[in-house]
Amino acid sequence: MQKSILPHPSAESFAPTSVPLLDVNRGNAALREEFLAAITAVCDSGRFLYGPDVQEFERAAAAICGVRHAIGCASGSDALLLALMAYDIGPGDEVITSSFTFFATASCIWRLGACPVFVDIEPDGFNLDPEQIEAAVTPATKAIIPVHLFGQCADMDAINEIAARHNLKVIEDAAQSIGAEYRARPAGSIGDIGCFSFYPTKNLGGFGDGGMVTTNDDALAEKLRQLAAHGMKPRYYHSMVGINSRLDTIQAAVLNVKLAQLGRWSSQRRANAARYHRLFAEAGLDRSLVMPEELPQRYHVWNQFTIRVPDGNRDSLRARLTEMKIGTEIYYPVPLHQQECFRALGYGAGSLPETELAAREVLSLPIFPELTAAEQELVVARIDEVYHQQRAAA
Ligand SMILES: *Cc1c(COP(=O)(O)O)cnc(C)c1O
Repeated sequence: MQKSILPHPSAESFAPTSVPLLDVNRGNAALREEFLAAITAVCDSGRFLYGPDVQEFERAAAAICGVRHAIGCASGSDALLLALMAYDIGPGDEVITSSFTFFATASCIWRLGACPVFVDIEPDGFNLDPEQIEAAVTPATKAIIPVHLFGQCADMDAINEIAARHNLKVIEDAAQSIGAEYRARPAGSIGDIGCFSFYPTKNLGGFGDGGMVTTNDDALAEKLRQLAAHGMKPRYYHSMVGINSRLDTIQAAVLNVKLAQLGRWSSQRRANAARYHRLFAEAGLDRSLVMPEELPQRYHVWNQFTIRVPDGNRDSLRARLTEMKIGTEIYYPVPLHQQECFRALGYGAGSLPETELAAREVLSLPIFPELTAAEQELVVARIDEVYHQQRAAA
């Protein structure tokens, strides 16, 4: 065989023996020169805050999210905080949200002195159950924060309908779902304000922390921008108390390079999800495990591929996979209503049964865009090994 005519050996050419949960270097490697050029330009410009890359990014991100305004800020956590501040939410107010999410979804409510009201999720899709929302509305309720968990939108028509009936604001936590759609509407354009994160593990990840709020409301956009700059307008005049939360120019420069790839990366994540579905079905494992599905009217961007491992087998499966060098993670092991810091809210065990069941069963598998077919085959083969051993032992 003539070696010279073979393609350059890539990760695909070798049989893998381990699979990382996420390898950000694979996606970044191909863009290295572009990143360095963009960062060098910021370095040379000396405009480290509010530089032209920030405006360019905000314009491009607004277009992708289908909104009139996108405003960069320092993190997804700050995006949520700014959104609540823009609606003057504070002591005496209640905000309904999910307990099956990252901490920041609820800490923003607590930090403003308002009360998080946790409601249960739908078992398919892991997002807020609209029926539970309806039951939790009180005269003190001001807003709903649906989370588009793992890359798939919540049931936004039902949520918006409840919000309209009770005059509530809808703040989308789209930290994991940039590019996702609900009835062809992009995440972050469906409620009143959208909140995004550019934490490195998100589908659009920066070189550190970053975030963004989106809205179609011109006056609200002004207020959000002002709140992110100490509430200052004009310079050194403060009509409201804001915070210091900016998207650094260097982060925006990096994100501009990456934003151009987002559509392709989402397609690769979707192709990887489809391949898992095929591989798990071929192995017959879709009878032992519950596969995550794309729900009707959704465009899922698969920030996570999260299976359910029933019958109390999750932790032992994960331990075996770790031994076999297959990266996995549990998003999330402790629901927010059961976190120590929220004990005073008084949610007992069993108060949110679907959330608590999900926390016991979920296991997220590698799904990043550059994951190879051989790596996915190895993940499924290793899980198959564990299940075969269990069957043999039984
Ligand atoms: C990552 C994340 C956040 C917080 O974003 P940061 O940029 O890390 O502050 C909020 N909500 C959800 C659902 C997230 O996944």
